[in-house]
Amino acid sequence: MLVLVINSGSSSLKFQAIDTASGDVLSKGLIEQIGEGPIADHGAAIVIMEDQLHKDLGEREVQAVGHRVVHGGERFSQPVRIDYEIVRAIERLSPLAPLHNPAHALGMRELMERWPDTPQVAVFDTSFHRTLPEYAWRYALPDYLYKEHGVRRYGFHGTSHDYVTGIAAELLGHDRNQFNAVIAHLGNGASVTAVKNGRSVDTSMGYTPLEGLVMGTRSGDVDPSIITQLIVRGICSAEEMDSILNKQSGLKGLSGSNDMRSLVERAAEGDDAAELALSVAAYRLQKYVGAYHVAVGGAQALVFTAGIGENSWQFRERVCSGLGALGVKLDMPTNVTRSSEPRVISALDSAIPVLVVPTNEEEAIAGLVKELLNGNAEA
Ligand code: AMP
Repeated sequence: MLVLVINSGSSSLKFQAIDTASGDVLSKGLIEQIGEGPIADHGAAIVIMEDQLHKDLGEREVQAVGHRVVHGGERFSQPVRIDYEIVRAIERLSPLAPLHNPAHALGMRELMERWPDTPQVAVFDTSFHRTLPEYAWRYALPDYLYKEHGVRRYGFHGTSHDYVTGIAAELLGHDRNQFNAVIAHLGNGASVTAVKNGRSVDTSMGYTPLEGLVMGTRSGDVDPSIITQLIVRGICSAEEMDSILNKQSGLKGLSGSNDMRSLVERAAEGDDAAELALSVAAYRLQKYVGAYHVAVGGAQALVFTAGIGENSWQFRERVCSGLGALGVKLDMPTNVTRSSEPRVISALDSAIPVLVVPTNEEEAIAGLVKELLNGNAEA
């Protein structure tokens, strides 16, 4: 099946046309600055995309579209075939993802109008985490904040955690439904998920993608009183606080940079701020690995994925060097070897195998779209 995977942002449109049989990417592009200059709106961006698709695909036609959607709230636990009611439901979830869901809905509406005969599917970043038990997704806040305002843990990066779980189980020869693991998705955004019997039972991102690990520019976990105190004392406004936590914190806040490669180099040269940023980030992840090892009743694997997880052997080494209590031991020559294949990087006598599994969100979405449409008689 030829599936077009779309990630529609407020000012950008990312697309990939994937042949699900071969996994080949037949066309891809990123259209930016939507709403500025010559690209007036998402409709204009789609015209540019259509031109590109036409050039790259020739006579081949896109058979289905998969839209990446950041927030599926409590409703969506699976990919769904899109109709106008679904688009409205995605829009209604906008208070939970104000930057993303309205933009996704715009992209969907435009494409439904232009390609009315092509089935479209929404794949949600939150849906893999719908299996969290209530004691894991509840915050210990007054009940009405959940009931009336939806304040709970949702979790993100679900498509990636799900995809990586499947590949890791296969690589180790486990039945996915009996596979327990801790999955660390470490990119510019970063989250770690506790997987028990192949399902998500806890995850570090919460109500928004800000909670949990130290990220490129996001703080991850902080004492919430810091926020109220700084605002009450007039040190910053609520808007400034939001920008501090999301854009000026994390590795960047501690060291001035969110580029893992340069941080590793600087730390090796004795730069104290870089060393501190790396050690704060690694320590935070070590704590989550310990916690989630308990949550899953004993992990059968620790898996690294995404930009940093796949590429930075130095950061993997730093994290694993603090996991001695779990019996984790890397095989150093394997850890430093670059590869784009899923692989085991731990020593033979490591108590828990450590893996690197490259994630591929677009391929995962295309696969989910095919699965939904093939299993659905109406499609
Ligand atoms: P992602 O969001 O998955 O694209 O990951 C982005 C992050 O991966 C950035 O922090 C990059 O610094 C990091 N990254 C990408 N390539 C490398 C590399 N070769 N070595 C270390 N870090 C990398």
